[in-house]
Amino acid sequence: MSSSNNSPLDILRQVFGYDSFRGDQQAIIEHLVQGGDALVLMPTGGGKSLCYQIPALARKGCGVVVSPLIALMQDQVDTLLELGVRAAFLNSTQDWRTSREVEQAFMSGQLDLLYVAPERLLTEHCLDMLLRGDVALFAIDEAHCVSQWGHDFRPEYLGLSILSERWPHVPRIALTATATTVTRREIAQRLGLTNARHFVASFDRPNICYRIVEKSDVKRQLLQFIQAEHANDCGIVYCLSRARAEETAEFLCGHGIEALPYHAGLSAATRASNQSRFLREDGVVMVATIAFGMGIDKPDVRFVAHIDLPKSVEGYYQETGRAGRDGEPATAWLAYGLQDVVQQRRMIDESPGDDIFRRRLGAQLDAMLGLCETVGCRRQRLLAYFEQSIEPCGNCDTCLDPPEAWDGTVAAQKILSAVYRLWRERGQRFGAGHLIDILRGKITERIKQYNHESLTVFGIGADLSEQAWRGVLRQLLAQSLLAVDHEGYGTLALTEGSRAVLRGETTLMFRREPEKKTRASRSTARSKAADVALSPDARQRFEALRAWRASVAKGHGVPAYVIFHDSTLRDVAQRCPQSLAELGQISGVGVRKLDAYGEGLLLCVQTAGV
Ligand code: ADP
Ligand code: ZN
Repeated sequence: MSSSNNSPLDILRQVFGYDSFRGDQQAIIEHLVQGGDALVLMPTGGGKSLCYQIPALARKGCGVVVSPLIALMQDQVDTLLELGVRAAFLNSTQDWRTSREVEQAFMSGQLDLLYVAPERLLTEHCLDMLLRGDVALFAIDEAHCVSQWGHDFRPEYLGLSILSERWPHVPRIALTATATTVTRREIAQRLGLTNARHFVASFDRPNICYRIVEKSDVKRQLLQFIQAEHANDCGIVYCLSRARAEETAEFLCGHGIEALPYHAGLSAATRASNQSRFLREDGVVMVATIAFGMGIDKPDVRFVAHIDLPKSVEGYYQETGRAGRDGEPATAWLAYGLQDVVQQRRMIDESPGDDIFRRRLGAQLDAMLGLCETVGCRRQRLLAYFEQSIEPCGNCDTCLDPPEAWDGTVAAQKILSAVYRLWRERGQRFGAGHLIDILRGKITERIKQYNHESLTVFGIGADLSEQAWRGVLRQLLAQSLLAVDHEGYGTLALTEGSRAVLRGETTLMFRREPEKKTRASRSTARSKAADVALSPDARQRFEALRAWRASVAKGHGVPAYVIFHDSTLRDVAQRCPQSLAELGQISGVGVRKLDAYGEGLLLCVQTAGV
């Protein structure tokens, strides 16, 4: 395809089949077409790809896209080929003959877009080859990978500043879906993008409903959540360890949910096969460590569940952002409890690295805990982390079911005095359960053994339930008003801050969980809304179109959404186009797809229900 005479809007309409640009897309594209550098921060699903794909088509030469996502390059290239864009990739999964062909195609000006893995790009061979062809622009995708403090650091990214040295006149665009101001500065500096214009979109993902629940029996809670609200939906479950990913996947499978594990301990072949099933089949749940998901652009992931606490708000935002890229309702669900706080504080204490590093990890965890414990709107808190402000959203748990705040100062004093008393017996392993038994005045074997019923604090907390005490303990740990002393067998210990509480110098407001209701979840009601909106006839056409799409996708060996998105099929089913011209008006149907699939689609619409 050679579109260099066309305007960006023509390309958008003809190649991609969309009517108009979204958000900053047009400004970014024009800036690049004119040769400027750009740093683009846009949430997942915001439409970052077009920001470099269209300038690559509009400018002379081939756009070179640097991406760490080797496993996804094939799908990205397939998507472009379906649109009639001449795209290819270079990475270690290819044999040398194929690489050779791609290189030849690039050098002879036969390519519009070339995806390259960073380690490949940085080889002298590859840099040399690029110098022999015509580069329209460099796009650096997942640019936050250059941040050493981030959760996705890739050392190869540090070498990419070479691009500005060797190609000072070729425009460069760095893109990411997550970045605090600090990370943004780091990206600009490390990639040599000091003169780049910054385009910062709102990070809000209004279609995602954020929910954070108190953890009790997490596997059961997860199962109930999926069964009640997302039966047969595609989703991702995140956990911290390989073992947990395995056992959770097995547990879900045992309850009739199509779940697959994904973690670094699986062979490359198993990982690839599980990922491919997740992308291609309907309703697969991936149970994964954070090794999974970056760049996964499956549009219809309906939920992301965390069964362990993420280490930072950035990580949480990035992971939950993989839900609902198609803009339809989706849920971000997190279960979190006392043990998470204890475990993560310990991991930080034991992590290698200097004090500054540990302090940074500590600050990241504190921000995450703040999000979990807030009595305010989750979305407001989340966006505040990225220095963006919004009104309370009406689509998160605290907006939908506001928790109460209660004055927990006295309760905190009780628990801290009990900790103080036990601390004198350190060397014994007294965990949270024992502490709560003391407060609630419960006579157990252990209480008798250590004669703890004689403590002055014994029974002074009978007014609160065990669960409430766990909540108090968790919130004290979250706020560092209590610490876990790892040398002393994991005993709880006072901190500087706890003394101020004991002296009555601080007032503490805690979150009281709303009563558990068996509610027909609002998000379920909403996620089915789009389907219900179709008339019975249209619904039948929609199903027929999906079946048609499945067989086409299978024939081409690509995921279904590469052919058409659900939203496009839904439009077709609803509007029932009678001619190719009418079909071409529908969003997502570009010239090439109209050509390739137009007749098939029309036939499918006409025969459905006959
Ligand atoms: P990101 O990379 O920012 O996560 P994508 O580039 O994958 O997002 O875009 C998300 C979805 O939105 C894709 O399906 C894309 O085709 C669609 N999209 C992007 N820009 C537009 C637009 N201007 N009009 C309609 N759909 C768009
Ligand atoms: Zn809210």
